[in-house]
Amino acid sequence: MAENEFNFSELEKRLGVNRRTFLKFCTGVAASLGLPTSAAVAMAEAVADIKKRPPVIWLHGQECTGPTEALLRSEQPSMEHLILDLISLDYHQTLDSGAGHQVEDMKKKSMHDNKGKYLLVIEGAIPEKDNGIYCKIAGETMTDLTREAAEHAAAIVAYGSCASWGGVQSASPNPTGATGAPQFLKDKTVLTIPGCPPNPANFIGSVLYFVTFGKLPPIDDKGRPKWAYGRLVHENCYRRPHFDAGRFATEFGDEGHKKGWCLYKMGCKGPETYNNCSSLEYNNIGGQVWPVGVGHPCFGCSEKGVGFNKPLFSLAEVITHTPPNMFPTIEDREDASGITAGAAALAGAAVGAAIGATAMSAKKLDETQSNSNTDKS
Ligand code: SF4
Repeated sequence: MAENEFNFSELEKRLGVNRRTFLKFCTGVAASLGLPTSAAVAMAEAVADIKKRPPVIWLHGQECTGPTEALLRSEQPSMEHLILDLISLDYHQTLDSGAGHQVEDMKKKSMHDNKGKYLLVIEGAIPEKDNGIYCKIAGETMTDLTREAAEHAAAIVAYGSCASWGGVQSASPNPTGATGAPQFLKDKTVLTIPGCPPNPANFIGSVLYFVTFGKLPPIDDKGRPKWAYGRLVHENCYRRPHFDAGRFATEFGDEGHKKGWCLYKMGCKGPETYNNCSSLEYNNIGGQVWPVGVGHPCFGCSEKGVGFNKPLFSLAEVITHTPPNMFPTIEDREDASGITAGAAALAGAAVGAAIGATAMSAKKLDETQSNSNTDKS
């Protein structure tokens, strides 16, 4: 990386991190996004260029401010420094030191002066029932505030499960008609970063992409950035060998739980939840800091229809039997032994049956064949 192109000493002061840590971070984000090293250089340049900082309007609806709290508590490289330096945070109801008319006027001025340029971040659900009276800020409903801010936004990000689809507020019977930003803003593209709380790294990586390339990263059918939500929690879980071997904990504190066995039978939703918790963990401090890592089943908080909807005691649907990323890939071709990918997957399922991972394998045998042709990493 051409380090001498940047004024690093100035950047180091601004970010509060040293050059090595910062470059390592950019390279890591670029790699997570599936981009070449040159993209890391572009990202570093984007952060170094203070003029590139997009103004950000950050709205809070029905929520606990968990996503903002998670962002502020992230560790090295100090993401709160990076995000607060990477963007120009013009309005944020939790972090603004001011309050009242002055702050509201500043928000309106920023949206007016930066039409088509600002980034709108929505945190929290939007209650639509009874004309939106269940969530008001500065005398205006969240529905009106969201519509107004979305109209001239360059891009919209729903940060957290509540903003992504309604989260816990939308759980049955959903008395306030809570919904997420993509469902409310039907005619707009909304990038979603679900999670309760979401991993700040998924937010910062996506914003870094936006600042660098002027557009949002590729998303899936639920608006999630593919680079962060392309894999099931189950695929990279460190307890996965226990699942494959049929070794399960059945209750908190039992022998299997003490030994670190798979939590599937305790209701772990990792097999049907897309997120990178198992590979990225939280807070960058290592040591398995994420729910399954500390002995609790995955709740499926980032998966619409699972988190806050499916009871913890119910078993997860096992979507795929694809081995974790670190396993060798299976080539989709006939080799000398005449084994195709489909046959290999079927054989894998049969072995799974023999060793006990497989009430699920048998149930999903048909899907295994089709998955093996599309999901080969
Ligand atoms: Fe990990 Fe849960 Fe999958 Fe078991 S079921 S391997 S604990 S994600």
